[in-house]
Amino acid sequence: MIPVTTLAGKKVALFGLGGSGFATARALVLGGAEVTAWDDNPDSVTKAAAEGIHTADLRLIDWHAQSIFVLSPGVPLTHPKPHWTVDLARAAGVDIVGDVELFVRERRAHAPDSPFIAITGTNGKSTTTALIAHILKSSGRDTQLGGNIGTAVLTLEPPKAGRFHVVECSSYQIDLAPTLNPSAGILLNLTPDHLDRHGTMQHYADVKERLVAGSGVAVVGVDDSHCEMIADRVERAGGKVVRISRRHALADGIYAEGTKLVQAQAGTAIPIVDLDGIQTLRGSHNAQNAAAAVAACLAVGVSVDDIRAGLASFPGLKHRMQPVGRRGGTVFVNDSKATNADAAAPALSSYDHIYWIAGGLPKTGGITSLSPFFPRIAKAYLIGEAAAEFAATLGEAVPYEISGTLERAVAHAAEDAEKDESGAAAVLLSPACASFDQYKNFEVRGDAFVSHVAALDGITMLIGSATGDK
Ligand code: ADP
Repeated sequence: MIPVTTLAGKKVALFGLGGSGFATARALVLGGAEVTAWDDNPDSVTKAAAEGIHTADLRLIDWHAQSIFVLSPGVPLTHPKPHWTVDLARAAGVDIVGDVELFVRERRAHAPDSPFIAITGTNGKSTTTALIAHILKSSGRDTQLGGNIGTAVLTLEPPKAGRFHVVECSSYQIDLAPTLNPSAGILLNLTPDHLDRHGTMQHYADVKERLVAGSGVAVVGVDDSHCEMIADRVERAGGKVVRISRRHALADGIYAEGTKLVQAQAGTAIPIVDLDGIQTLRGSHNAQNAAAAVAACLAVGVSVDDIRAGLASFPGLKHRMQPVGRRGGTVFVNDSKATNADAAAPALSSYDHIYWIAGGLPKTGGITSLSPFFPRIAKAYLIGEAAAEFAATLGEAVPYEISGTLERAVAHAAEDAEKDESGAAAVLLSPACASFDQYKNFEVRGDAFVSHVAALDGITMLIGSATGDK
C-alpha cells in the first residue's frame, strides 16, 4: 500500500468504492487525509464504512472545504455526460483526479528519479505491461506491476530509488492524471474504441497523447496516422521520442523485420533481438508490443542481454493467445479473451494449421470479416448459440462440425490435430463471441478450456495449475 502523504491533513472527497476506489480511500486515510467517500451502490458504502472509512452523501458535503476530488476511472468525467459529482466539484472549483495522479504526486514528493514506465494504447496494453515487468523482474530488479491491468496502483509498494513501477493506464486514468510524468511512456496504437466515453476520436487521441507528452522518453507506435502525428508533435515540443513500427523500416527507432526487431540509429540499423520461436510473442501485433517493451527497457537502462533473456522466458498472459499445452506437434492455445471477430484476427493470423474452436454468444457482424484467414483453418469446431450462424458463414470454405460444447470441441479438435501432417498444428480457442450463453465470463471459459486440455491423454502442460500471469 502507498500511503498518500501529499494530502495529509486535507479534506478529500472521493466517489467510486469499487476495487480501486476502495483501495484509494484506504491509501488516503493511511496517509492522513480526511476522506469523505461515497458510491451510488449502497452495498459499497456499507462495506467502506465497516472498514472505518468515513462515508457521506456527496450531495450534502461542503464542497468549498475540499482540497481535491478523487474519482474512480470507471465513472464518467466527460462522456456521455459528467457524473453528478463532477458537476458539484467543478461548481466549487475543486480539482478532479484519479488514483494514478495520486501515485504520480507521491513519486514526485518522495522518489522523483525512481524509474516509472506507463503504458497505454487501444490494444496490447496488458501484454506490453506484463512483458516489461517480466523483463525487469527476471533481470533481478525490484519491480511493481499495476494500474489498469488489475492491481490498483496505490496497493503497490511505494516508489523508492531503484524500484521500478510499471503501470498500465486506460484513457480514463490518463484523463484523471493531469501531471502524469513517467520516465518512459508508451503509446502503442490508436483505433476507435470506447468512443461512447470519449465523444470523438480526436478527444480520445488527445487524452492518450498526454501520457507520452509528459514522458522523459516517449515510445510511440507509428503504424497509425493518429500516433504518427502525436510522435511528431511530441518531438517538435522538445520531447525525446523513440518510434516503433511493426510494419515498416524506420530511419530512427525500433521496427520489426520478420521476427527480428531492428534498432535504427544515426544511419545504422542493427537487429537487436529475434522473437523467432517465442510462442508467447507470435504475430505481428506482438512484435509491436515487444518493440515497445524493448524501447522502454532500454530507456530505463536495461541491457540488451537482459532484455533478450526476459523476452525468451515471457510466460504470456492468461486467455490471450496463451500456449497452455502441447502434444506431439500440436500446441493448444487459449485465446478466450477474443470476444469478437476483430479480437480473434491476431490469433488466426499467427498460426497456419488451425483447429479452430469458435462460437458462444454471437456479436453483430459474426465472423464474415475473418474470411481472409479461412485458408489457415484446417477445421472449425463450433460451440454455443453462434454455431449455426458461423456454420453458414464458413459454408464450403472451411470444414466444420457443430460440437455444441467446449469439452466435445477440445476432444475432437485434439483428435484431428493429431493426424495433421504439418507437425505444426494449433488447437485454438479464439471464440469471436461473448461467453455468457455457456459461461460466466471469458475467464471461466478459458479456464474450462485449460482443464479440458489438461485432461487429454499424453498432454504436456505449458502452464502451472491452469493459471497464467494475470
Ligand atoms: P489490452 O490490455 O489493450 O486490452 P491485451 O494485451 O490484453 O490488450 O490484448 C488483448 C488482445 O488484443 C490480444 O489477445 C490480441 O488479440 C490483441 N492485441 C494484443 N496486442 C495488440 C496490438 N499491439 N495490436 C493489435 N491487437 C493487439
